[in-house]
Amino acid sequence: MLVLLKREVGEPVVNDLTSWLRMAGLGVHRTDHNGHVRLAALGEAGLVDWEQVKKFPAVESVTKIAMPFKLASREFRPHDTVITVGRCAIGSDQLALMAGPCSVEGEAQTFTIAEAVAKAGATVMRGGAYKPRTSPYSFQGLGEEGLRILRRAADAFGLAVVSEVMDAQMVPLVARYADILQVGARNMQNFPLLREVGHAGKPVLLKRGLASTIEEWLLSAEHVVSQGNGQVILCERGIRTFETYTRNTLDLNAIPVVKELTHLPVIVDPSHGTGIRNKVAPMARAAIAAGADGLIIEVHHDPDHALSDGAQSLYPEQYRELVEQIRTIAAVLGRRL
Ligand code: PEP
Ligand code: MN
Repeated sequence: MLVLLKREVGEPVVNDLTSWLRMAGLGVHRTDHNGHVRLAALGEAGLVDWEQVKKFPAVESVTKIAMPFKLASREFRPHDTVITVGRCAIGSDQLALMAGPCSVEGEAQTFTIAEAVAKAGATVMRGGAYKPRTSPYSFQGLGEEGLRILRRAADAFGLAVVSEVMDAQMVPLVARYADILQVGARNMQNFPLLREVGHAGKPVLLKRGLASTIEEWLLSAEHVVSQGNGQVILCERGIRTFETYTRNTLDLNAIPVVKELTHLPVIVDPSHGTGIRNKVAPMARAAIAAGADGLIIEVHHDPDHALSDGAQSLYPEQYRELVEQIRTIAAVLGRRL
């Protein structure tokens, strides 16, 4: 239930009501909007006599949150969540540009790409050190050594770091090096992992599952937010369809849909969304035009020898050119890099 308090209600009153609801067995989450405190009271709604709550002098209204993803919904929090990471305010009018190799392969490769994407205008460096690979014989990532390299390369060029964490037990380790914890498409419904990143105290980049509906995706976000971590960045990266000319089908419909349903920022990954280098830029431009809050793009200076996803990696020069186009599109929309 959503308990909307009257304007300018004092903190002691808010605390009393919160304790009262908690004592009734409900979880209580708070957000402030337009001078009103809004409390989401979650759990077994039947435990409370809501007619009685409506009569509290501080209470303006009590309504049901219709969406299944309660805390992630705009019903609970009408205004956009903005997540500040390094120089980037994700979900604001500033677009988040994340870029880097699919995998961290070594020091020289990572520093070369970090320099290139930083010069092009990216603010967040991506790179996998723990890689979810379809084949157990493919490169699985450099592990902690990869995280160390990624951190140093990003720091050298003033970038923040996003990197994938594949397992709940690995969260503290990855969180030591990364500014944003990436939960990959294959792990979107790994609930123990979602719970753990919900306690990590760092922003989470939650990729949409390979065959997940938008509702399932937002419910996964709810798992993280309900643990107390409201810093979730959604990432559309394409879904599995009957189409075979592209690696996945990038669902740009998801952007306006998600923007309406949730206050969380949503970015797009056109690299995995298409799987094909020369399809990345058109879909990146389209994603920004459709209202995405940013892009995460794979870039490699020698993609023919990349240890993963070379075929969808942009050359640094292509990335530079794309960023300039994005700058132009952003201006039309009243946004900036
Ligand atoms: C990646 O970002 O390299 C990756 C493996 O992405 P996804 O989980 O979307 O497949
Ligand atoms: Mn990849």
